[in-house]
Amino acid sequence: MNAHPTFRIAAIPADGVGAEVVEATRTVLNEIARNAAEPFELSWEEFPWGSHYYEQHGRMMPEDGLDQLNGFDAIFFGAVGWPSVPDHVSLWGLRLAVCQGFDQWANIRPVRFLPGVRSPLRRADTADLDWVVIRENSEGEYAGLGGRNLGARGAGHEVAVQSALFTETGCERIIRFAFDMARERDHRKVTGVTKSNAQQYGMVLWDEVFQRVAADYPDVETELVLVDAMAARFVLHPESLSVVVASNLHADILSDLGSALVGSLGVAASANINVERRFPSMFEPVHGSAPDIAGQGIANPIGAFGSAALLLDHLGLPAAADSLRRAITAVTAAGVLTPDVGGQASTKEVTSALIEHL
Ligand code: ATP
Ligand code: MG
Repeated sequence: MNAHPTFRIAAIPADGVGAEVVEATRTVLNEIARNAAEPFELSWEEFPWGSHYYEQHGRMMPEDGLDQLNGFDAIFFGAVGWPSVPDHVSLWGLRLAVCQGFDQWANIRPVRFLPGVRSPLRRADTADLDWVVIRENSEGEYAGLGGRNLGARGAGHEVAVQSALFTETGCERIIRFAFDMARERDHRKVTGVTKSNAQQYGMVLWDEVFQRVAADYPDVETELVLVDAMAARFVLHPESLSVVVASNLHADILSDLGSALVGSLGVAASANINVERRFPSMFEPVHGSAPDIAGQGIANPIGAFGSAALLLDHLGLPAAADSLRRAITAVTAAGVLTPDVGGQASTKEVTSALIEHL
């Protein structure tokens, strides 16, 4: 009889370096499961979907792909995108199909500075910085509403409309999620990102909901900041941030800025969460398939490892998640780094070094 809890994880390595970092992450997670103070088991199933699947079947995943994934405790995803498949086809055909199909409406993107990884901020104190961007992942500017029309005046006078959808429930659930997260951090603060001075409908609703939710959390410090000022704040006063909550578009841009500040896309982690747990959530590094370095064994696995820590948090294993985060810090501090962050180590060398630090 097996007394340890077992979690079923679906792995979708998909394209390019995605496959390389997922393999490294499986090794690390299995090691953590074995050595945890309260051991647990991970039962992996791998789904060989992505651009190669597309070349054979004309689609990125089988028609019943979501049914196959439903019921897993979590999904660990690599990356999609390959020169042989148009970008919007690979993205919508797999990654966004899972995000939307499983209503993963909260996107978590930690911005965590790592010792030994040089930030373009070049401040002495960056290693102490960490904040998290919470992105609304289901509506807003990416709701897909609008259309194009040539109108009566014909060619050269086309009109396109792209609308943003803000619902009170959509705003409230993501803002509340951010406040709940702030309560679990040392620095209890939520910064809401807005543009209500220029966008007088959706963003004003967003602000009103933010103020109303904030009133329920008197123990959490709050502020609302215009998105343009926020971009500057990321660079000039990052120490003022803890939890940043923003609409789909705003958070998309700000979280990429955050990844760049940390030193490389290769170290940025993310999670797409179905908060109600009706469906599996998906964990993935922020970076893409990186065709320029795929197959060379030098992909930085740190972003994937950070995403694995978020997965452990989600499974209710915070001690295991913390030990993984500490090991990540130890490895970068020791200078075991891939070329994208100025080192010479391979993916395998970083992985072995990390396992030693666990
Ligand atoms: P996508 O459309 O899938 O987001 P992209 O081309 O925008 O793809 P990436 O595939 O992430 O973005 O690549 C951007 C750059 O970052 C490339 O030069 C790539 O080599 C580098 N890069 C991305 N991920 C990693 C990684 N894990 N390790 C090292 N370098 C990486
Ligand atoms: Mg990209």
